[in-house]
Amino acid sequence: MFIKREDELHPLISGNKYRKLKYNLERAKAEGSTKLLTFGGAYSNHILATAVAAKEQGFEAIGVIRGDELQETWHFNHTLKSAADHGMQFKFISREDYRNKNAPEFLNYLRAEFGDYYLLPEGGTNNLAIQGCEEILLPEDTIFDVVTCAVGTGGTISGIINSRNKKQHVLGFPALKGDFLKKEIKKHTHQNNWKLITDYHFGGYAKIDVELINFINNFAVAHQVPLDPIYTGKMMFGIFNLIKKGYFRPQTKILAIHTGGLQGVFGMNAILKTKNLPLLQL
Ligand SMILES: *Cc1c(COP(=O)(O)O)cnc(C)c1O
Repeated sequence: MFIKREDELHPLISGNKYRKLKYNLERAKAEGSTKLLTFGGAYSNHILATAVAAKEQGFEAIGVIRGDELQETWHFNHTLKSAADHGMQFKFISREDYRNKNAPEFLNYLRAEFGDYYLLPEGGTNNLAIQGCEEILLPEDTIFDVVTCAVGTGGTISGIINSRNKKQHVLGFPALKGDFLKKEIKKHTHQNNWKLITDYHFGGYAKIDVELINFINNFAVAHQVPLDPIYTGKMMFGIFNLIKKGYFRPQTKILAIHTGGLQGVFGMNAILKTKNLPLLQL
């Protein structure tokens, strides 16, 4: 197994979020936009990536954040604090409003408050994002039989599926529960030869346990590769478990995509501390 270190593309705009923003920011510029607006939760890799990319490329950035209680406490949240340090302006909304965030009335209401903006969807997934993720695999990667990645909204895996060599098999490891993802991915790609492995979400999005914490910490020591607890740690745990169970034929060459997300370790450790669980070592 080899690991493609997309986490090393940029120190803060990590991995797949860099790929997803690339063509969107080009489009925003071409349209003459000066302001990006997007959505996310308090620990979102996409929120921080957008804040940093916006600053580097001269955009203003607005983050519409789930949870109005954060209005008081966001300074203590690593992700939001870093995003604000990079100039992102926040609007905190209730979970109920957040569920309706894509309604045209709400988007117009935001336009009235912030002026015109270029909209990036939650998680950053749209057609231009998938186009960016089609650049993750390179011509020399055709030597691998299997390509794996973590799955959130399904944008990244769709780009990988679209750009893979016809003989390659793509395995996605969803970081969350639910079987809506297969349908989502089919909206973005008509190809087959891919599969979701749904046994390694550890109870749902951002849920982790001591076994996963230990796996991630041992992996970092053994291989000098840090993994994040939300996405890449679960994927890697899954790959190792499948290998142990004899899922892959002998001599199978696996390419695991490290999609980044390491900034999430700080937020996760703050939560683990309150639960008296062992911490992740970076
Ligand atoms: C966002 C994210 C993903 C999921 O990507 P999708 O395109 O939403 O499926 C995977 N890994 C990391 C580290 C991420 O930040």
